[in-house]
Amino acid sequence: MIKQYEVLIIGGGATGLGCAVESVTRGYQTLLLEAHDYGKGTSSKSTKLVHGGIRYLANFDFALVQEGLEERYYFLKNAPHLARAQTYLIPFHNLFEKIQYHIGIWLYDFLAKKLKIGSSRFLSKREALKEAPDMNPHHICGGGIYYDGQFDDTRMLITLLKTFESLGGVAYNHHPVTEFIEENGKITGVKVGEQCFYAKVIINATGTFTDVLLNLAEPEIPHENVTAAQGTHLVFDREVFDCKHALVIPKTIDGRILFVLPWHNKVLVGTTDIEMKAPSLEPLAQEQEIDLILNTLNQYLTKKVTRQDIRSIFAGQRPLVKPAHAQNTKRISRKHEILMTQNGLISIVGGKWTIYRRMGQDTLDFVIHQGLLKARPSVTQNYPLFGATMTPADYPLSVYGTEIEAIKAIQLEINNDALIHPRLPYFQAEVIYQMRHEQAKTLEDVLARRTRSVFLDADAAIEAAPLVANLMAQYFNQDARWVQIQLEAFYDFAKHFKPAL
Ligand SMILES: Cc1cc2nc3c(=O)[nH]c(=O)nc-3n(C[C@H](O)[C@H](O)[C@H](O)COP(=O)(O)OP(=O)(O)OC[C@H]3O[C@@H](n4cnc5c(N)ncnc54)[C@H](O)[C@@H]3O)c2cc1C
Repeated sequence: MIKQYEVLIIGGGATGLGCAVESVTRGYQTLLLEAHDYGKGTSSKSTKLVHGGIRYLANFDFALVQEGLEERYYFLKNAPHLARAQTYLIPFHNLFEKIQYHIGIWLYDFLAKKLKIGSSRFLSKREALKEAPDMNPHHICGGGIYYDGQFDDTRMLITLLKTFESLGGVAYNHHPVTEFIEENGKITGVKVGEQCFYAKVIINATGTFTDVLLNLAEPEIPHENVTAAQGTHLVFDREVFDCKHALVIPKTIDGRILFVLPWHNKVLVGTTDIEMKAPSLEPLAQEQEIDLILNTLNQYLTKKVTRQDIRSIFAGQRPLVKPAHAQNTKRISRKHEILMTQNGLISIVGGKWTIYRRMGQDTLDFVIHQGLLKARPSVTQNYPLFGATMTPADYPLSVYGTEIEAIKAIQLEINNDALIHPRLPYFQAEVIYQMRHEQAKTLEDVLARRTRSVFLDADAAIEAAPLVANLMAQYFNQDARWVQIQLEAFYDFAKHFKPAL
């Protein structure tokens, strides 16, 4: 018998899984299909900020900032094991900036209202240098400290997946939608190769690929709703900027904001923002973007960095709603929009990671408003996600929340508490857990998105690959040929995380 779902979501990034959790928590039978792996697209390549977007104050986009600040609060509250409040230090270079950023930080706190996650403060030059001794003293005359959140993007995706599944939702990775099924002028299902899946409501949450799916659904109309804006990040060892605060560089030479963030005992620096002509699932960092980040860091920090210091490079593409007259992508609003085609395909575009929940809520409200499903209220605002605990275990296993016991049980079962590599904070038992419980199927799934190995240290991930591939082959009962195929595919993928020296 053909199974008919109430809601079918295409795309397993922040937007798709946000919609999936929203749908299943309202009690709708929901299916999610992801072409590659959860987070294969943009959602694994963010700057890892849970934020209102202090920079959008400059565009007077107060409603957008306020929405982000509200969602920041619920994000941190519902996933306390994965997201935390982080202090951000913004240096002032002159009196004008001092006044400008005082107003900005004050406004940012004001817009958060009761949902503030910490109290901002202002520092003299001496105090700022005491807080961040690695900062170049020549550039500053003081600083401000404000709060925003920080998280691990793919661990959050997997947590959303687990939440979804624990409530009866069905999700398949490595299931690309290749065709829509239409009956009497309405889309009623999708095809994944020869397999058919049917649902009352179909939601396109494919990020920068939204228009590709729209063109598949309505080939007679050219769809141009999304612009891809690429951002690049570099990862360094912690010593480069060993500080409990994140540093905000408000203006690079071309006027962009750059974050220097502590992340998994490393330092993550990014992001740039350039418009691209066509979307790419694995965009390549451009050489001039890498140079821009290195040059900016060398202006702001006392320790000088070169390409040799880079542990990993990654680039991602934002799906931005295409405005009629955009001059450059950093000016394009991060607002989200919901569209519906004549034949009933619903698409959700734009937005950002922080507001994944709101995007899901708005999409389901839209569906209900169209009379496509029986109305049921949203419950996700105060909804602890799978594994959520206020007392997570110590790092590195804290990301599993209450699931830590399952990992410890595997360590006992396989009598192995070794790491996958001495420079990576991941146990071999985690790989088994990820295959058993988190739909990890390929070596890349494990080394890029279940663990963050290749994002933290590309060389270490490459060195760990044979061990991890053999662990996986044993579990999946695969042979040496499978191991070889996995290794070749992973080496090809991972080489782009290494800088050209
Ligand atoms: C450099 C950068 C930094 C950012 N930093 C932040 C930040 O710090 N904080 C923040 O809040 N936001 C940030 N963002 C924004 C945020 O990352 C994105 O808005 C968000 O990840 C987009 O998620 P998505 O689900 O819409 O797209 P994606 O994550 O790209 O997901 C779309 C999915 O659809 C799948 N798909 C495509 N075609 C098909 C098909 N035919 N069948 C099935 N599946 C398909 C893809 O494989 C993909 O997994 C950043 C973005 C970038 C680019």
